[in-house]
Amino acid sequence: MNNGKMKGNISENLKQFKNGLPEDITLVAVSKTHPVGTIMEAYKAGQRIFGENKIQEMEAKWQEMPKDVEWHMIGHVQRNKVKYMAPFVGLVHAVDSFRLLKEINKEAKKHSRTINCLLQIKIAEEESKFGMEIDKAGELLNSEELKTLQNIKIMGLMGMATYTENEKQISEEFGRLKKYYDSLKDEHNLTVLSMGMSGDYKLAIAHGSNMIRVGSAIFGERDYA
Ligand SMILES: *Cc1c(COP(=O)(O)O)cnc(C)c1O
Repeated sequence: MNNGKMKGNISENLKQFKNGLPEDITLVAVSKTHPVGTIMEAYKAGQRIFGENKIQEMEAKWQEMPKDVEWHMIGHVQRNKVKYMAPFVGLVHAVDSFRLLKEINKEAKKHSRTINCLLQIKIAEEESKFGMEIDKAGELLNSEELKTLQNIKIMGLMGMATYTENEKQISEEFGRLKKYYDSLKDEHNLTVLSMGMSGDYKLAIAHGSNMIRVGSAIFGERDYA
């Protein structure tokens, strides 16, 4: 957590950022590491969707903040922590296994909820432990096992491009995910393609993203002190 000092004017940053966005793009304001006081600046400026990457930090903020906030879990999910977010989470972006889906389904059921999920697909060149291989997502969506999970709903796909200055490479990675999304969306009623962060959201939108996850361009740089 940082010390809560203001970094620029968040409501101005947010307004300017939203002005530059096409209307049909959903903005997830990534508030990880920022204290509630800072996040409330964005809330007061009208933002309602916030993204966090640590479940317990998100839960603490959910307790404190107004209840019309929609909380998105954008980070890697450990199965033993699903229970902390099950009562309230709006969308889980980084689901990468059937085992995790099963756990989310089990906890959602306890709260008589349906939890919306995205499958995280590996598109970056760099070695990452997280995300499914691109063809595995199709297998999962087509599996009979998936039909047994009544308390989750797969809304779409999420991906992260390689962290590089090479726009051609980023474009190729986003383009590949968009093509894959298009090949699945009609049959499986997918409506969400989550790709793009502060550094690459323009390219992501150009390649068909409809949900972007943006932190530093709104809240300023994070310090992980
Ligand atoms: C932190 C994070 C973001 C936002 O990153 P910024 O560069 O600050 O916009 C987006 N997606 C994921 C998965 C993240 O962990």
